[in-house]
Amino acid sequence: MSLLEVSDLQVSFPTADGVVQAVRGVSFSVERGRTLGIVGESGSGKTVLTQSLLGLTPGGQISGKAVFDGVNLVGLDQKSLQKIRGKEIAVIFQDPLTSLHPLYKVGWQICEMIRAHDKSVTKAQATERAIELLGHVGIPRPRERVNDYPHQFSGGMRQRAMIAMAISLNPKLIIADEPTTALDATVQAQILDLLLRLQQDSDTALLMITHDLGVVADIADDVMVMYAGRAAEKATKRDIFYQPHHPYTKGLLESIPHSSAAAGDRLRPITGQPPSLIRLPPGCAFHPRCAYVMDRCLTDQPELFAVGDAGEHRSACWLPAAAIGLTDDAERLRTRAVEAGRSQRAAQVAEAIAAAPESEGSVIA
Ligand code: SF4
Repeated sequence: MSLLEVSDLQVSFPTADGVVQAVRGVSFSVERGRTLGIVGESGSGKTVLTQSLLGLTPGGQISGKAVFDGVNLVGLDQKSLQKIRGKEIAVIFQDPLTSLHPLYKVGWQICEMIRAHDKSVTKAQATERAIELLGHVGIPRPRERVNDYPHQFSGGMRQRAMIAMAISLNPKLIIADEPTTALDATVQAQILDLLLRLQQDSDTALLMITHDLGVVADIADDVMVMYAGRAAEKATKRDIFYQPHHPYTKGLLESIPHSSAAAGDRLRPITGQPPSLIRLPPGCAFHPRCAYVMDRCLTDQPELFAVGDAGEHRSACWLPAAAIGLTDDAERLRTRAVEAGRSQRAAQVAEAIAAAPESEGSVIA
């Protein structure tokens, strides 16, 4: 059995304007020692999804199942969740400056984390462990720096300190929510290397939430692409990058800069913006932005279908299962399907997409 098995998870928030359907029936699993990358634009539901696992979505209505190491986290009381948070499942947030308390020394905060879950550890033992952890994540002179305040650390060092805190209790699962977004490219690479090394040392499972396909390419084993609160495509990293099926995944790949691009080449954004999660489009939620839109896309919401040859590659799209990849043959298959499945209404939507100014599109990479 997987370490974490999430089935049909739904999270919604009633508001004065209507119900925000942040997560709509998402299922996935994470194995020990593996990394699942969850990718999507802002508002795709990826952060709410993981926060709901830990009871960090106050006011949210949650249904479905999220079985972690045999325990269903959905509906678990806060006291039980508190025991799991930090000890069994650790979280690394995007901005370590707001995650670390500015008035307490970095070492003290790591010690508190350790002692909050194990009262038998003395302050001296916890301090020694904090020094050891800071050294382990690459903080120079950890015995001195353990007494520094967060503002005395650089951005990269603060994120290392957050990672030290996250691994201090040997969690089985680490959720890293955009852990490198606030860092420059060199420090980002160091932090990703560090996470991979720590994961390999301890067989920890890693859930990497990111909008950056470069991060996924570096670190993930499997990938789930999210759009408007649902999984659009799930596959191994290799299949997502070389054999994408869903037009949204294809759009994400085409919108990232390539090293082979010539000077003056422009990024190709995905036309339009993500939909409001209060007023979702009928049918496939991606249809107002999809160049392949067909009649049934306007009314019928596709479930995740197996595509390609491998059973684990799934895509929520009405295009033929064989239409995977970025080759001319795959494009011909898509074009044939669109010709057969598009009449006037879908044609009007396609025309509106084609006429939309490129500047209104979005690029997430
Ligand atoms: Fe595009 Fe239709 Fe596939 Fe949705 S179901 S991604 S609209 S082709």
